Amino acid sequence: MEREIFTLKNSYTELPETFFTLQDPTPVASPEMVLFNDKLAQQLGLDPDTLKDEKGVKVLAGNQIPEGSKPLAQAYAGHQFGNFTMLGDGRAVLLGEQITPKGERKDIQLKGAGRTPYSRGGDGRAALGPMLREYMISEAMHALGIPTTRSLAVISTGEPIYRETELPGAILTRIAASHLRVGTFQYARKWGTPEDLQALADYAIQRHYPELPDTDNRYVEFLRAVIRKQAGLIAKWQLVGFIHGVMNTDNMTISGETIDYGPCAFMDVYHPETVFSSIDVQGRYQYQNQPYIAGWNLARFAEALLPLLHPVQDKAIEIANKEVTAFIDVYEEHWLNGMRAKLGLFHNKEGDKELVEELLSLMEANKADYTNTFRALTFPDKQEQPLFQAEAFKQWRHKWEDRLNKQKENNEDVHERMRQHNPAVIPRNHRVEEALDAAGNGDMDVVSALLDVLQNPYAHDEVHENYCKAPDTPDPSYQTFC
Ligand code: AMP
Ligand code: MG
Ligand code: MG
Repeated sequence: MEREIFTLKNSYTELPETFFTLQDPTPVASPEMVLFNDKLAQQLGLDPDTLKDEKGVKVLAGNQIPEGSKPLAQAYAGHQFGNFTMLGDGRAVLLGEQITPKGERKDIQLKGAGRTPYSRGGDGRAALGPMLREYMISEAMHALGIPTTRSLAVISTGEPIYRETELPGAILTRIAASHLRVGTFQYARKWGTPEDLQALADYAIQRHYPELPDTDNRYVEFLRAVIRKQAGLIAKWQLVGFIHGVMNTDNMTISGETIDYGPCAFMDVYHPETVFSSIDVQGRYQYQNQPYIAGWNLARFAEALLPLLHPVQDKAIEIANKEVTAFIDVYEEHWLNGMRAKLGLFHNKEGDKELVEELLSLMEANKADYTNTFRALTFPDKQEQPLFQAEAFKQWRHKWEDRLNKQKENNEDVHERMRQHNPAVIPRNHRVEEALDAAGNGDMDVVSALLDVLQNPYAHDEVHENYCKAPDTPDPSYQTFC
């Protein structure tokens, strides 16, 4: 018997109809597989060979609907750069949910699959470059231990799409714990009934927070759980120097996964005001703002949940305020613990925050590469940057060494802790661009080689050494596009 491509469930279709529109992907001219993630396929309980053969490619291109699928586009709203608007999947179609061998439910979504009722003026399509970019960076994030949507495949469509120039079209198969967003709840609150909102919350709890107790307080607990997840996530971004670039409320998940790799990029030279996105002209989503923007987005989430938090509105607002205010403290705790690990510290001590902040100021003043500074603290033979020659840094180093000497762990333990928390390889902008340029000329080898290295970001072998280098001339005006 022919092997099925997926074994799909469609729990999303059991939500009230207002949350989605059944929508098939629009077939494309001549699909070809450009990238495929064998390891991820196996983790999902899928057969890589079946997915890579002709029928599999047709399915991943949207040219054939797989058995068991009820394709749909999801409705959601969101604050884009602070302005509230109706959105929805304008170029993505959810095929269904694959249940993994471990019993996890994962969305299988085709991004770039054609127009939907939520497309507004858009063409419903995606270009090859950005889809390869999402694939590389999302897989790098996963390897760095950061919760994220994953990338299973990129298919080139054989159709041109039109942006500023003509570009090759592509479809990304995105895998996610779910695609529920803060914006999904904003949509429910604004345009749904109270019952719709409750149904959505119950669905989200069952899917992502099933451990929450079934008490009168459960929606407050839900709000708190999402706030805590996001606090942990944003701390992880800050610790590796990841700048999301477009932290609109529709791009913040309820599951706590990073989603929507548009204009994101990793910071080379440390500067708190770093922005890469061409559309973020005011720097709303700059590096140092990310925790506060996350808090702002979670306040919008709490607002959407108000009717579920308490029947008396004033009380509900009081509860929401309390929970949202806690975000920044939880975030700071995660961040400081992460920084302690990067500096080889095992326990909390008064003054740790100041020690970290002083280092960051020195990095800023000396235009130090963020990733390589921590790497060079881990491997002192790599201290080539001007930072390490600065007098002020030498004084800082004494303080750090004193602090290290006050803990009982030995040098080896310290070194190992630092090695495990300071990546050697991040998807550096110049490397990503180099890979995309080659791909644009039909050469996928550079992408593959980069992806290989990004699989083991904490390895310090010779292959990795080559990818650790900061760009020769850091480009302060590097720009990313959606
Ligand atoms: P994003 O900036 O990627 O979060 O997308 C914001 C909104 O624009 C979402 O509703 C997307 O579905 C929609 N969108 C982005 N690109 C397109 C496109 N090419 N065609 C239709 N809708 C799009
Ligand atoms: Mg989005
Ligand atoms: Mg996007």
